[in-house]
Amino acid sequence: MVKKHSNKQFVEKKIGIDNIMPPSKQDLNLQQASEKAIIEAMKEHSDFISCFSNKQCYLCLQPLNTFSESEPCLHWLLRRTNRIKKRNIEYLLKNVDMLQALSYVRWVANTESKGMGINDLSDEIDEDRYYECTVTWKNISWSFLVENLQGHTQQENIFPHYHLHMTINNKPFIVFSNFHIPLQESDIFFLRLRVEGHERMKHVFLGGESYEDWLRMVNHKDALANMKSGDKDTDSPFHLQTMITAKEGSTISGDEIASLVKESNRTGETMAALVRDRLKNVKVKTIISPSEGIVDQVKRKRRKQ
Ligand SMILES: [Zn+2]
Ligand SMILES: [Zn+2]
Repeated sequence: MVKKHSNKQFVEKKIGIDNIMPPSKQDLNLQQASEKAIIEAMKEHSDFISCFSNKQCYLCLQPLNTFSESEPCLHWLLRRTNRIKKRNIEYLLKNVDMLQALSYVRWVANTESKGMGINDLSDEIDEDRYYECTVTWKNISWSFLVENLQGHTQQENIFPHYHLHMTINNKPFIVFSNFHIPLQESDIFFLRLRVEGHERMKHVFLGGESYEDWLRMVNHKDALANMKSGDKDTDSPFHLQTMITAKEGSTISGDEIASLVKESNRTGETMAALVRDRLKNVKVKTIISPSEGIVDQVKRKRRKQ
């Protein structure tokens, strides 16, 4: 029996029942359930952090490099020993929800880089794919792919499933086509909430926030005021593009812009903030977008028709 990592990570905005809720949940007071789930998830996350910093698994309480075939545990995903084989990971994943495996590796990734090692940017998901998320930590990457919620209609795998691609030192250890891992009812609930959205509920990975989650959560005005320019684009979580247009009847001084660029280089203040502060009679528009530092999504090649 695999110990369960929390999957109670949903937040309800207003009290209400909806048909995408699993039937067993329909009688609960969602507000209370949601608050309780958040408190439990935060407590679980803090247990995780304190064990993880001691290289210990918070679920089985063994060192992270422990492997015993009869005691499958999510810490196997970190493959801290090469005794762990592909078939062991397959067995493990078939016994936990995708959401548990995914939130576990997201917690792990965020011990290293707040959101930068997790890419589930909706803009980068291919149109004909339902959900994709690539997570990296140290020398490992895990890419979860849900092509659709039905399964492959023309093949024997007509059941909702996902695929995992895992690399170690940039070499494939598991490839997308290796396994079809069944999606559980809770996974489908989570996926629909995450991908299709819902007016009264939203899903959050407490402690496992991706870059896109941060982008959605931040107050953009405050963020702009507090951002500093990075030395290199790859070090910064955000890429800012600022467009300046002169208001009617005024002009923009090239000298002024040049001196702001110098000031930005010297002080680390962003151009976006300086331009807003200093230039008069201009309209400023800033676009915040993902920087090059975000991990790339690993894509599955299309099958030949
Ligand atoms: Zn463990
Ligand atoms: Zn498939």
